[in-house]
Amino acid sequence: MLENEPLAASTTYRIGGPARFLVTPADADDVAKALQLAQDRGLPWLAIGLGSNVLVKDGGFPGVVIRVGKGLDRFEMKGATAIVGAGVATPILARRTAEAGFAGVERFRGIPGTVGGGVYMNAGAHGAEFAEVLTEVTVMDAKGRVRQIARKQISFKYRSSNLGNVIVLEAKLALIEEPPAKLKEIQDKLLRWRKAGTPFDQPNCGSVFKNPGGTRTAGALIDECGLKGYTVGGAQVSTMHANYIVNTGNATASDVLKVIEHVRKTVAKKTGVELELEVKVIGV
Ligand SMILES: Cc1cc2nc3c(=O)[nH]c(=O)nc-3n(C[C@H](O)[C@H](O)[C@H](O)COP(=O)(O)OP(=O)(O)OC[C@H]3O[C@@H](n4cnc5c(N)ncnc54)[C@H](O)[C@@H]3O)c2cc1C
Repeated sequence: MLENEPLAASTTYRIGGPARFLVTPADADDVAKALQLAQDRGLPWLAIGLGSNVLVKDGGFPGVVIRVGKGLDRFEMKGATAIVGAGVATPILARRTAEAGFAGVERFRGIPGTVGGGVYMNAGAHGAEFAEVLTEVTVMDAKGRVRQIARKQISFKYRSSNLGNVIVLEAKLALIEEPPAKLKEIQDKLLRWRKAGTPFDQPNCGSVFKNPGGTRTAGALIDECGLKGYTVGGAQVSTMHANYIVNTGNATASDVLKVIEHVRKTVAKKTGVELELEVKVIGV
């Protein structure tokens, strides 16, 4: 547990002020202890994974941030069921299940978060999402109580769930047998496609806005409005992919939020579409 620890290093954006406490749990008991600390001190708490879908504000998070990672990284195959800790990185889940000859999450190879964040956000790619393969999730509530929730009790939407005020500890996924060579071929093809269209050389948080439905993606709408390259301070609408706002080196959260506001207003004015945020804005 670290005190007043900058969160920038815990996010793919490399942006964000300090957490009052940053806890890296070694197991589920540590998660419960972190929640107890928050309760004892009357502080808010927040779970994060690899911080690949968050924008932490410059004032940081005035509470306990629980970074779920290595300590919760169980990976087990029981027949076609994968039992996976929330701290397992999603690309590793995709690779290991494919190598074991099971399909269902192979298209998640390029999602740079954790299984916990992926389930909580209903992450997905190339037409597949966590909601389709999840059968059960193990969670801890704010009082440290652990329980299993069956898939049918959870409501998932595009990039969101109704899991609410809980920490995801583990997920059970139902997969289907498929030859490893075929799965590897799919993954290689999708990774090549991603590499060509993602600004991997600049810190970012993936897609900033949700696709609004209809025929045009958020990226296409932003591009149509001529916003590629729009810059405030160190934050810029990527010239490669208009739904990415990249950190060109020394961006603050305030810079990113200004770009977001400008993009939203311009797109609404020119196209009539109100873009909704996919990235989670955290802190003060
Ligand atoms: C280059 C790039 C490409 C991306 N491509 C995609 C893509 O194709 N598809 C896609 O869906 N996303 C994509 N993303 C976004 C991101 O990777 C996913 O949303 C990912 O699932 C987030 O996981 P995380 O562990 O990083 O979560 P974080 O960013 O740490 O957290 C995201 C949200 O989940 C909550 N959360 C995290 N872990 C837990 C937990 N254990 N229990 C409860 N709540 C938790 C957090 O509180 C927060 O609200 C991309 C991001 C980047 C940087």
